[in-house]
Amino acid sequence: MATRKVKVGNIGIGGGSPIVVQTMCNTHTSDVEATLAQCRKLHEAGAQMIRLTVPGLQDIKPLREIHERLRSEGIDTPLVADIHFSSETAIEAAKVVEKVRINPGNFHRDHQKACEQFSRLVEVCREHGTAIRIGLNHGSLGERITSLYGNTPLAMKEAAMEWIRMCVENGFYDVVVSLKASNTIVMVEAYRLLARAMEEYGTVFPLHVGVTEAGNGDAGRIKSIVGISSLLSEGIGDTVRVSLTEPPENEIPVAGYLADRYDRRLHSSMISVGIDGKTAVATYDSPSKERLLMDFAADFGKMLLDRKIDEVVLKGSYADEDGKPVRLEGSQYAAYLTDELMQAARRRFYRPEYIACPGCGRTMYNLEETFNEVKRRTAHLKGMVIAVMGCIVNGPGEMADADWGYVGEGNRRVTIYRGKNPVAMHVPETEAIDRLLSLIEKG
Ligand code: SF4
Repeated sequence: MATRKVKVGNIGIGGGSPIVVQTMCNTHTSDVEATLAQCRKLHEAGAQMIRLTVPGLQDIKPLREIHERLRSEGIDTPLVADIHFSSETAIEAAKVVEKVRINPGNFHRDHQKACEQFSRLVEVCREHGTAIRIGLNHGSLGERITSLYGNTPLAMKEAAMEWIRMCVENGFYDVVVSLKASNTIVMVEAYRLLARAMEEYGTVFPLHVGVTEAGNGDAGRIKSIVGISSLLSEGIGDTVRVSLTEPPENEIPVAGYLADRYDRRLHSSMISVGIDGKTAVATYDSPSKERLLMDFAADFGKMLLDRKIDEVVLKGSYADEDGKPVRLEGSQYAAYLTDELMQAARRRFYRPEYIACPGCGRTMYNLEETFNEVKRRTAHLKGMVIAVMGCIVNGPGEMADADWGYVGEGNRRVTIYRGKNPVAMHVPETEAIDRLLSLIEKG
């Protein structure tokens, strides 16, 4: 899709530029040394843009110090300030970093006031050469939009178009847009609708694509690849973030794979495919287990999402760490990868569906460890949607359609949600998983 080109520091997004790989620190921005160390690591790993959480005005000073020190070290990776609730914080951050991400769902409820706040932000961005990402999430659409369109891909597209029109009315074009969701069907549909709507409108901004709260491990990777590759294969998407509940440097190889593949620098290791009715039979000769997983998800995720096929049979081999081929036909690993792919494409649920945020500077506890423990203890609850979220500020709003939520409050306390409602508050962390399970049992 032909888009405008947006300059973010020394990087171009859209307008025919290569796909940009980005990630986000999970440190507290106020902890300057820890954030600097993570930025250096991410730069070395290949991140082309790094986002930092900026919860309030008190974080502007550390943000400035981090920016200045990275530049003095010769690291010129553009920094993005992630802002949720405060337009004043967005305005101050826009004076410091190359891009600010705003969540329109968090702007003023009164649309007129939101427009005024946004116009002030735009003026500062124009003055400082700062780009804006309009970052909408399925779980945190504003009340006005959801009352009109429900919590749907259409609502996401309409909300984005409202803000896109505000950018154009303000004569501001350094804009990137995202419409993330944890549900791959919702996410893909929302981006497709938005791509079409921008083309009809006549102003096409580049798109930042990602599956939010994808979780971790193989499942998080497969879910992200299914959603992102479905769009990139259609020419939708100019920059990618793979959100994993893991150290952020782990996201880079997966995002890099997607960028390489859809910029046509890399081909699948699939050597043949046959379609028998609605079953695909695919044979691989993969250089590694990791590549097999990524190729398989990218090759068949979109076909499953779009219901072009109903089943896929995995054959062939991958090379183990010693370079020896491991056969796939009839293996447990082939069955497991197929189950994970079917679940990521939401065609068949063989275990619970997890929503877990990647963590950021707002995270209130050891997210990765807790998420793994929640997964271990709830593995039998096939089909249930369970969310594990890092903070009470954004977590509840971002859990979208979870049946149950485990949300960090801070001070080693947790709130447990049933759907959108808190059902147990201030639960000590040490008891929270037991409490979650007993509440689930009671129904
Ligand atoms: S929900 Fe998670 S990723 Fe989102 S702001 Fe809170 S801690 Fe950060």
